[in-house]
Amino acid sequence: MTNAIDPVIVAKDLRKKYGDITAVNGISFEVRPGEVFGMLGPNGAGKTTTVEILEGMRDADSGEAIINGINVKDDPTAVKAMIGVQLQQNAFFDNLKLSEIVDLYAKLYLAKVDPVEVLSRVGLDNRKNAKYAELSGGQKQRLSVAVALVNDPVVLFLDEPTTGLDPQARRQLWELVRKIQAGGATIVLTTHYMEEAEELCDRIAVVENGEIIALDTPDALIDQLLSTGFKPEKRVREANLDDVFLNLTGHDLRD
Ligand code: ATP
Repeated sequence: MTNAIDPVIVAKDLRKKYGDITAVNGISFEVRPGEVFGMLGPNGAGKTTTVEILEGMRDADSGEAIINGINVKDDPTAVKAMIGVQLQQNAFFDNLKLSEIVDLYAKLYLAKVDPVEVLSRVGLDNRKNAKYAELSGGQKQRLSVAVALVNDPVVLFLDEPTTGLDPQARRQLWELVRKIQAGGATIVLTTHYMEEAEELCDRIAVVENGEIIALDTPDALIDQLLSTGFKPEKRVREANLDDVFLNLTGHDLRD
């Protein structure tokens, strides 16, 4: 039986090998309800494999993955019904209208939703009759989040949601993530953008060679580094190139 303070995600000593390659080598962590939990790490560190085990898309060799009190191995169908997984762009049909795409995903989940309302959550209701092929990169990313929301997920998995987006579209997606968090969902976010993790994540796991080498809040991770006497190579200025870009081109979305 679960109660409000139980973790919504539990990963317990997860391990996974692909032939000779050890992708996940004993990963354990817990995520509390309503957290945005970041997974950072170099390419090939084992983030996707870990996330796919939690989603029930991949079997672990050993260990336990529990979502909302349910062991993923015991009941993957129940787990899939309560999670949202942001899909890769190319999984969509180019010639379907956005409202038809949302409707299709709602039917897959047996969810009763108004496609226009779902599109409005990601600011795409005004493009409901547009075809997928006609969308900009930022709009495609927002649509991929929209379809992950059709079943009102308890846990939303976002895999590099802002890769390839301009700074305006990236910030808009950050706003969307905050809105989804405020709505009560727990979010697992993998990203290669450190400023994105710092901005959005309540806690971060840094993964390397299939193991978690650090896990804490962004502030605590930075404080731990500074306490070692670390000094950044460049003098930190009060603005960065991102600020220059946004100052020159404005915060409005272009698409
Ligand atoms: P990235 O940041 O590049 O997405 P990642 O941290 O998500 O990387 P994984 O995709 O989990 O890392 O990969 C971990 C290791 O497992 C890598 O060495 C990768 O080559 C290997 N691997 C991943 N999927 C498979 C697969 N289906 N078959 C064989 N090896 C795989």
